[in-house]
Amino acid sequence: MQRADEKDLFRSCIMAMGSGVLIQDADGAIVDSNEAAASLLGISRHDLVGLTAVHPGWAALRDDHSDLPAEEFPSSVALDTGAPVRGVVMAAHTPAGERRWFVVDALPLRDRSGALQGVATLFDDITAQRLAEEELALAQTRLRQTREAAAVGLWEWDLRTDELWHDEGVTAIVGGRVESIAHWLTLVHPGDRPRMEKEVEAVLSGQHTQEVHYRARVLDGTERVLLQRAVVVEWEGERPARLAGTTVDSTALVRATERAEHLLDCMTDAYFVVSPQWQFEYVNREAERVLARTRSEMVGSSIWELFADAQGTEFQRQYERAMAGVTVEFEAYYVGLDCWFEVRAHPVSDGIAVYFRDVTERRASALERERLLLSAEVAKRELAHAATHDGLTGLPNRSAATEWLGAELADASDSGDPAVLFIDLDRFKLVNDAHGHAEGDLILIEAGRRLSRSVPPEVMIARLGGDEFVVGIPRCRSLQHARGLAEELLKAFQEPFAVGDRRFVVTATIGIALAAPGATSLTLLSDADAALYRAKDQGRNRYGVFDDEVRDRMVARLHMEADLREVLDRRELLAYYQPVFSAATGEAVGAEALARWPHPELGFMPPDRFIPVAEETGLIIPLGETMLDHAMRDHDEVRERLGADGATLWVNVSARQLDDPAFASRVLARAATLSHPGLLGIEITERVLASTPGAADVLAQIAAAGVRIAIDDFGTGYSSFARLARCPVDTIKIDRSFIEPLTATSGQPLVAAIIELAHAIGADACGEGVETSEQLDVLVDLGVDTVSGYLLARPAPLDQIGRSALG
Ligand code: C2E
Ligand code: CA
Ligand code: CA
Repeated sequence: MQRADEKDLFRSCIMAMGSGVLIQDADGAIVDSNEAAASLLGISRHDLVGLTAVHPGWAALRDDHSDLPAEEFPSSVALDTGAPVRGVVMAAHTPAGERRWFVVDALPLRDRSGALQGVATLFDDITAQRLAEEELALAQTRLRQTREAAAVGLWEWDLRTDELWHDEGVTAIVGGRVESIAHWLTLVHPGDRPRMEKEVEAVLSGQHTQEVHYRARVLDGTERVLLQRAVVVEWEGERPARLAGTTVDSTALVRATERAEHLLDCMTDAYFVVSPQWQFEYVNREAERVLARTRSEMVGSSIWELFADAQGTEFQRQYERAMAGVTVEFEAYYVGLDCWFEVRAHPVSDGIAVYFRDVTERRASALERERLLLSAEVAKRELAHAATHDGLTGLPNRSAATEWLGAELADASDSGDPAVLFIDLDRFKLVNDAHGHAEGDLILIEAGRRLSRSVPPEVMIARLGGDEFVVGIPRCRSLQHARGLAEELLKAFQEPFAVGDRRFVVTATIGIALAAPGATSLTLLSDADAALYRAKDQGRNRYGVFDDEVRDRMVARLHMEADLREVLDRRELLAYYQPVFSAATGEAVGAEALARWPHPELGFMPPDRFIPVAEETGLIIPLGETMLDHAMRDHDEVRERLGADGATLWVNVSARQLDDPAFASRVLARAATLSHPGLLGIEITERVLASTPGAADVLAQIAAAGVRIAIDDFGTGYSSFARLARCPVDTIKIDRSFIEPLTATSGQPLVAAIIELAHAIGADACGEGVETSEQLDVLVDLGVDTVSGYLLARPAPLDQIGRSALG
């Protein structure tokens, strides 16, 4: 997931939340909020922006109704301490003056580096709970106060005479004089009468005295709630003879209590209060439902007896904390009901009040969401890793290496600048091609491991791609230090690589560059690359250092590239032609086109110097096209001068040209203009055939149209017999290095073998670079089909092509 997506997800989560959310910056100013926050605070999201805790409109209160100063707001505390603040109960006022109670969490927000950026405040409205609770508490206090106050009616009942006496207090309460207990009972509300009668009986049978609340329609006709208490003051043997008691008018009180209880009952949260002795004091209707117990079962019972399986769990730990005076908030699983509960418990005057709700379902979906977020997080981390790491070896990739170098260069210190070792595996392409990419990959992985093992931990190793690795030395002390490391690395490649039961010797060549003043990661890498090229020129399995000589060569190369471009643009590149003769008849049978660059100082720039530059820079494509154009244009004249109407004109083609998808069609379009397509031939080196995966297909396409194919420089390129046999080859050109040492007494077996091989795949064998008649004689004896060389004819411009033939 991209970072932007992640932010969007986070935002939409916040916007959809039922809780209010405020996002404040490091100065405590609100920068964002959700709809819930706006509606809970009664301020639009727009108007919330910029407000801070010091805004006087909040008129904030603590849990105990004292003023809450701005610096004690949960968000202020979180910003101050950098630590989250949870479960703070506070009140704030809306612009309309309405007081709202909230329970608030404040979470510090940090950026990736861990620096405090701001704070997120999450809050829920608990005003309804709070009001109900306050009212209940008030009612209970009043009850206590009323009981404690002496404003009660007193009465006495003589059981022997059934005589009832009461004082003025009772008269005031019941609105007149009550004659007898029977009379009193008629005042009791019919619904409460059976209970009252039972109570009377209980008292008469000598049981302990009871406190009874009951409704009554008193003598003035009004409905009241009375609280009655009775004590036996005289006994006759086992039986009570005289009762005395008090009557309290608790109408107002009970009404308030009822109202509070009604409020609590209407609450969607379950609610109960437990005493310091852990007895249920009050339970609302929702709690009855959720806990599947009735109020009468619970009130007066011990929570730990009724819900024994909550003992020793999170519930007990948290309730004990609440009992000790802390507001707690938690989510926990209750095994007895197989439910997850979200719980908030806070101390009240006499015990703790507990709000809770069943969140099993919400939790299931939250878990699912968390799982999704987690997998998104993992995917994101993998993506980030993939962006900076090479999938094959697990090493940092090119962009990570560049970044590392950039940071090291920026960090340049007295102890030294970074150095780069550019590593290229020798002959890797051949292994890869001969044995397949799977084995090649295994070698790359092993190479990465060997490199990692050979360097100290502070050194960076990356794979740039293909068989190129780079090693970065931070604060390199000296060139000597880098050389030492290069030697270590070369040693790591001495052991052959084992793949399956095969073993391959894959050596490495290394270019070293030290950061020069003003170096960037790119110049440093390209310096090391230039040093690597130089080392390769001098033979592989070694290291080379980027020094003034390499720098000069690099500069010369750049100049050469510019010059070559100009030569091509100005159409100054020439074609020379070198005739090829039949070994059997001595007749000319073809000619090879060779590129010539007329150079103001050198006379001619040698192809061995400019062809590699053309290959590297891609200029070989226009150069190759120019040569094909020359050949097509000169074709008739070359054949005429050679006196061979059927002579084939051979043009050299490089790997880059074969990779060009339009190449085959361009060659074929030209061949089509000839009287016979076999009058055109292309030469590719054995090295190109061996190392260009698509070469065989392109060649097959060209050969199918009748254009001829020659494999150049044969014997130097490690191509496999199988690959060669699959190729539609007309001619195999034996490399000059085999011809040169050829005499009547030496070098014959190798050349004989190549000629035999050519014939075995149905191709002609051509001996090129023939300089002596001895070489020529031996070649003819060995059965070579065609020959060329300075002995016979030098490459020459069109107008100087001779008719020379073997004599
Ligand atoms: P090559 O394809 O092997 O071409 C034969 C080279 O051997 C030519 O060198 C030629 O002048 C030289 N040669 C011919 N007979 C003798 C001999 O008896 N003794 C000696 N010592 N050398 C002889 P040249 O023209 O300098 O080209 C060098 C290489 O440059 C060519 O080797 C070929 O690989 C490349 N090249 C030349 N022209 C082109 C071109 O148009 N396109 C491409 N892609 N490569 C070219
Ligand atoms: Ca050639
Ligand atoms: Ca050759």
